[in-house]
Amino acid sequence: MLPTVICTTLLVEKSPQALPLGAACIASAIKQSKLTQNLCKVKLTAFSMEDDAVRGKSEQETAEYIAQSILQLCKEENAVQIPAIVCFSVFVWNRLILEKAAEQLSSKGIITIAGGPEITAHPEVFTAFDYTVSGEGEIKVPQLVEELLRKPNDKTTPSSDGNHHSKRSEDSCPLTAANIDLATLSSPYLDGTIDPAEYGGALWELARGCPFKCSYCYESKGSKTVRLFPMERIRAELDLFAAKKIPQVFVLDPTYNANKDRALQILKMMAQKTPDTFYYFEARAEFITPELARAFAKLPCAVQIGLQSADEKVLQLVHRPFNKKVFTKNIAILNREGVIFGFDLIFGLPGETLNGFKAGIDFAISLYPNNLELFCLSVLPGTDLFDRASELHLTFEPNPPYHIIHTDLFSKEDISRAASLSASCNLFYNEGRAVPWFNTICHAAKIRPSQFFAQFADFLNARNSGAAGNGPFPNTPVLQHKEIEALQLDFVKKLFTQKHLDRLYNAAKDIICLNGAISRTQDSGKSETLRLTYNAEYIYSEYATDLQFFCQNIKPQPCNVQTFMNGRLADFRIKK
Ligand code: SF4
Repeated sequence: MLPTVICTTLLVEKSPQALPLGAACIASAIKQSKLTQNLCKVKLTAFSMEDDAVRGKSEQETAEYIAQSILQLCKEENAVQIPAIVCFSVFVWNRLILEKAAEQLSSKGIITIAGGPEITAHPEVFTAFDYTVSGEGEIKVPQLVEELLRKPNDKTTPSSDGNHHSKRSEDSCPLTAANIDLATLSSPYLDGTIDPAEYGGALWELARGCPFKCSYCYESKGSKTVRLFPMERIRAELDLFAAKKIPQVFVLDPTYNANKDRALQILKMMAQKTPDTFYYFEARAEFITPELARAFAKLPCAVQIGLQSADEKVLQLVHRPFNKKVFTKNIAILNREGVIFGFDLIFGLPGETLNGFKAGIDFAISLYPNNLELFCLSVLPGTDLFDRASELHLTFEPNPPYHIIHTDLFSKEDISRAASLSASCNLFYNEGRAVPWFNTICHAAKIRPSQFFAQFADFLNARNSGAAGNGPFPNTPVLQHKEIEALQLDFVKKLFTQKHLDRLYNAAKDIICLNGAISRTQDSGKSETLRLTYNAEYIYSEYATDLQFFCQNIKPQPCNVQTFMNGRLADFRIKK
């Protein structure tokens, strides 16, 4: 009977974006490696923080559940009688839990191996695992598994007294550290290790490495080389996604558009082979060209762009090149071509103040992103920022997720205000799908987006403190879009009353409700009926981007409106 190797991880959520791709790559590599092919059986299993069994449970309870589930799997595979190996894919969000699970498995005689970005940076601190592997694991893990299975000794024999195995990191292991030639790797999708249809989406690796060295990123100490997966593999994976009708694909290439010709070639293939699949890209604004924007626009897709800060000096401190003029010009190209895009901003960066961060929000929103994600800085071990933390006056959590606590310019209170702005922006702007009308409301109320989000957070705080069961914002329960819309309307009404703009409220309400209904129809395919104060055609026109002008020049003309799907896009008609 063959021993079993289990490749596993703990995913942060249940979504088409949360696939155990790292664990699947290792499982696929062990299956395909000549070293291990006939030596063991390989199983891929993944857990999620949103599994019913662990939702709301402590780290310890989650770790126990994972360890027990893996032991049960070993039993089913008859692996309790013979050596079993568990390979963990470790990330910032699952490290503490997987360490605890590994300790429990180790005490039952199961060999544990772990790899991941943080382990690559600091293998010596991961003592909970029997073995750690730095860097890419597809060559090293099969080598290590072979070594362990061919030479069973006290490390591979289950210990009857429950002692832990001796620990070893790859630093003391004579295995190579060179970057892998991606052409030699097997695809976990093509060999059936993981079925994207089961997850309702795929994470799709097109390249590894990055030409940049942002200080807060694991790539900050990388070689700046980008290695590309061969076009033959990309084509075959795309054919598989097409055959399985995969609805969403998240492209894993941090600078997808850095190589324009290749980006165009792959976009063309995507449009031809999978015209109904929705793609998510990460791209750099400085490499956007009209040709690329037109190619993105031909595909159902969204492009996420790391802005991180709107202050060139702040970005210089983290070694991230940024030219505001070029950024603005190239985002205008995306807007002109109708490409859906979003931005990421970070708070707590060295050299940044709360006011600077707010200016970043205002700059970002002025460019009409479809979503704006505001993240707290993590000072990750193994990054350039971690090494320079004291020189840059950064104080951060000693444990994952290593969030910034304060800097010399961003106090603890500022961090908490920024976190509140982040939650407010997420609820009102992102979840509330406010992009088509948010700037219109801000202009009418003469308020900056960052002020708007701060006041919305205060509004929710006041509301939550009066409601039983809710803590202060952002501890708001998960809301449906219609519920968020009700909050948006309440808040805008209050804001307009404060600003003596009540005369504009009905038009604002029409804009919010019509756009909200269209977006829900786009989501669900279901038609909605609503009554507006103004003619819907005018409400949906350019006239309505200036509320003052609109209300001065357009007379109320109540109408009933019905939304419906018009091909792929939601539309509306005025009901007689
Ligand atoms: S943050 Fe993005 S662009 Fe910067 S080094 Fe990391 S992967 Fe590259």
